[in-house]
Amino acid sequence: MTGGDGTVLSLTDIFKHFPVRRSFFSRETLRVHAIDGVSLAVPAGKTVGLVGESGCGKTTLGRVALRLVEPDSGKILFLGQDITALAGEEMRRTRKMMQIIFQDPYSSLNPRMRVGDIVGEGWLVHGIAGSREIRELAERLLLRVGLSADAADKYPHEFSGGQRQRIGIARAISLSPKLVVADEPVSSLDVSVQAQILNLLKDIQEEYGMAYLFVSHDLRVIRHMSETVAVMYLGKLMEVSPAEEFFGNPLHPYTRSLLAAVPMLGGAPREKIVLRGEIPSPVSPPPGCRFHTRCFMARKLCEEVCPPLREAAPGRMAACHFV
Ligand code: SF4
Repeated sequence: MTGGDGTVLSLTDIFKHFPVRRSFFSRETLRVHAIDGVSLAVPAGKTVGLVGESGCGKTTLGRVALRLVEPDSGKILFLGQDITALAGEEMRRTRKMMQIIFQDPYSSLNPRMRVGDIVGEGWLVHGIAGSREIRELAERLLLRVGLSADAADKYPHEFSGGQRQRIGIARAISLSPKLVVADEPVSSLDVSVQAQILNLLKDIQEEYGMAYLFVSHDLRVIRHMSETVAVMYLGKLMEVSPAEEFFGNPLHPYTRSLLAAVPMLGGAPREKIVLRGEIPSPVSPPPGCRFHTRCFMARKLCEEVCPPLREAAPGRMAACHFV
């Protein structure tokens, strides 16, 4: 089941700003521009890697996609249905088909629940199975993610970080979702465990056929996982390209700067580009092109006019006046 165009998720012109106080004693409210007009589609059974520096809005976008965070405006289509304003029982039924794997396997599992209950909670909540069947189903899923069946009787604190992330994955796939948002799922794990978890996620995707919106700051991880890569910077998308072309021939100056900093990624020899300075505050993003304060190609126009995300090459989108 997909939208008519083969997408599971389609985000259109999403905005999300968060109000913050200037200081503890101040009454003045500022606005963090977490997402500013983002449109993005995730095809059925595929992985879209969403990459960017810390604070660029990628985690917020993942949560908006599942409506764990409500957008200020914009439209969310899931399996062709507009779920932006869906409520009550209809939203509950939809939620079954969209799940999340959190970054921190320590805080995302209830420490007072046994692992079997954590994994089987979805079946109970949605009335899909009784407690005896749940036990059986949970054991089967735990085995599938590489744990032993008796893990069902234990508590999360009895497991390592990698094992806890396996529990999180078992919980996420328990209801056979169509879309999983994986929010930096390996960034808190040891490097030696990361590859095992990534491979597990790939195997499970093949088996269950779900789509991933895979959020990560790590280009190596994004390369391993994604068919399409979307790059975010200060609340806006800078480039959306098929992964092979993205890594072989990046279009956007920001993408080129990011890839130049990771020469181990292979592909074409990297340019020598140094990404200048720090990412500006999302409370007062620069006018014009968001990236102009750090861009090695910036010109006068870039300070004044924000470039739209447009087709810059067949099947590739970039937001730059000069690409
Ligand atoms: Fe750089 Fe200008 Fe392109 Fe923005 S629009 S990425 S500042 S060249």
